[in-house]
Amino acid sequence: MGNTGPAELLAIWEAGLAHHGPGRALLLHRAARPESAADELLSLPVGEREADLYALRRALFGERMQIRAECGACGEAMEFDLDARDLGVRPRKRDGPLRVAEGEWTVEFRLPTVADLDAAAHAVAGADGRAVAGAGAHAASGAGGAGDGLLSEDVGVGGPVAADGDEAAEAFMAAEGGDAAVASTAAARARRALLARCLVSVHRAGQPVPADRLPVAELPEPVQRKLAEAAERADPAADVTLNVACPACGEATRAELDIASYLWAELDHWARDLLLDVHLLATAYGWSEPQILALSPLRRRYYLELCADG
Ligand SMILES: [Zn+2]
Repeated sequence: MGNTGPAELLAIWEAGLAHHGPGRALLLHRAARPESAADELLSLPVGEREADLYALRRALFGERMQIRAECGACGEAMEFDLDARDLGVRPRKRDGPLRVAEGEWTVEFRLPTVADLDAAAHAVAGADGRAVAGAGAHAASGAGGAGDGLLSEDVGVGGPVAADGDEAAEAFMAAEGGDAAVASTAAARARRALLARCLVSVHRAGQPVPADRLPVAELPEPVQRKLAEAAERADPAADVTLNVACPACGEATRAELDIASYLWAELDHWARDLLLDVHLLATAYGWSEPQILALSPLRRRYYLELCADG
């Protein structure tokens, strides 16, 4: 996992404060794979990055992930645990593009990379004049973090909208207090923008259609759906969708878990706690920050208890 001691993690956190979703995700990814250059990381399939981030999460904070979501039907707050070992399946290596045939259409496409995802999210944010956070209708969050930063910017092909139609997304966004119609349109547009970047070839009735001149929105709905399903099968970890039954009303809510946002929230929480420890110990003992960070967490805790007792 490279150099991920407290000082290095604090440096990553500090650098991340100047960024938003994609920049923070890249910083975390570099921490998970320090031997890889940024270009290389951006050209990986999305699920490959997610797998790296789940591995980093396990190394830093353990396997048990506490998840918080809100019931889409009655608004009940729900909390449950996931095991990080079960998440983040890496996509299979493949030569050549994926292919979908539906009716008179044959479409070849490649798996969206991290760079595709960032560009698609950016395009939608620009077109809408609003942040794309939440466009994918995700809202599962870490139990320890603040809610705000946890709406995902991930608008993957295989999201809940693609899988279930816009009704589910609308219900979910409505539950989240967002503007359902706008959000679901933005999600659909983001999905098309992402797909448009990944088309390799399109044939209709055996005739090639220039993929760069084809608005993806003009592909028939069944073709778009098959594309989404094929993408999800090929790279399941690109979107981790949770289906949570509400203990209060029994309705199921779908929420997506965005590991980059989740992990960032945890890191942010950890860093602020650690800085408080540094402040308390420096005040009490006159130690420097590097000296305090060099202590094991156990010793830090012990000295803090002694300070409190004294
Ligand atoms: Zn409920």
